[in-house]
Amino acid sequence: MSSDETKLTNALAHLGRNPAISGRAVNLPIYQSSTMLFDTLAEFEQAREERYEQGVLYYGRYGNPASFELEAMMAKLEGGDGCVSLSSGLTAVTVAIMAAAKAGSHVLVADNVYGPTRMFCDNVLMRYGVEVSYFDPMVGSGIEALIRDTTSAVIFEAPGSGTFEVPDIPAIAHAARARGALSVLDATWATPVFCQPLKLGVDVVVHSGSKYISGHADAMIGFIVCRSAHYEEMRKMALAFGDRAGANDVFLALRGLRTLKMRMRHHHESGLKIATWLAEQSAVTRILHPAFEDCPGHEFWRRDFTGAGGLFSVVLQPIGEDRVRALIDGLRMFSVGLSWGGFESLALPVNPSPMRSATDWSAESPLVRFNIGHEDPDSLIEDLTQAFRHLG
Ligand SMILES: *Cc1c(COP(=O)(O)O)cnc(C)c1O
Repeated sequence: MSSDETKLTNALAHLGRNPAISGRAVNLPIYQSSTMLFDTLAEFEQAREERYEQGVLYYGRYGNPASFELEAMMAKLEGGDGCVSLSSGLTAVTVAIMAAAKAGSHVLVADNVYGPTRMFCDNVLMRYGVEVSYFDPMVGSGIEALIRDTTSAVIFEAPGSGTFEVPDIPAIAHAARARGALSVLDATWATPVFCQPLKLGVDVVVHSGSKYISGHADAMIGFIVCRSAHYEEMRKMALAFGDRAGANDVFLALRGLRTLKMRMRHHHESGLKIATWLAEQSAVTRILHPAFEDCPGHEFWRRDFTGAGGLFSVVLQPIGEDRVRALIDGLRMFSVGLSWGGFESLALPVNPSPMRSATDWSAESPLVRFNIGHEDPDSLIEDLTQAFRHLG
């Protein structure tokens, strides 16, 4: 193991459990508290003065001992200085964007971003006088030509969670920084185990902790991680919206982090095994998985990531919607459902075409996205084998 990997492995076990808080107990309690009590008015006034600082106990919405431990742990894992935990991954995305954008400014958004991120930009940002334009995620340093004097933020995802193109993260991040635009990267798929985008020049990393970080499909939580230069603006914007991660979800995210590396390794191996099997099926024309050589940005994945999540898509032959339905309904071990990153395998048809404006996907439908969970991979392949028979 490289020394970075050794550090991360040990950090997952040892961070986030400050004995000054938990005493002898290995796990932190669930802090189900709104009010923080002060003995004197002067102590209260001091907390109010310092309420935006990490670790200051003031009022439940501003954080509690466990959420501060979790945030410090996430910041450390990403190589950042600060983290804000929020009520969902989508809130992490929207709060980060709101902190960067202002009326009259322009925001550049990758064409393959998570659907609700795009809907937020189109339906909310535009209403408040922020101009939004979309770019080809494979633009690389070509992003320079798209950045305007008014560009306040560049929003992108690595990889896109439906079509899996891997952008040139440093090229985009450096071009944004050179022009004073904030780069915001959604790194939910990779987790800090497989990629640490702050080290690649990104300003702000966002995560849906509802996925791999909590890892058991039992929590809704989001994270914004950044360096100190952006921490206060992120935290203030989260507080302006009155958002915070729930106490129970903080506990579940901390617990999930303990096994994150082992789970990610399993997702990587099982996902690749199943994707490799799928690639050989005559009904499948293409695999959209960053570890596959023909995935756009495969070379950036090799350069900047140390593994792959268990989420990928396949492009099927043009077989018609009915037969795609028969395939999905014929699966017994895979269920249909939103989200991913849990222990259970999922299959979902995705249609990126209506969500594209800078790039064209119309030729590539239908797509099926698979989340490979922790079932035995050979059993999953057996299940796929019988379901693919429906395709004849
Ligand atoms: C699920 C997801 C989100 C939103 O996270 P929630 O916790 O469901 O709000 C954001 N980005 C990506 C890439 C996601 O997959």
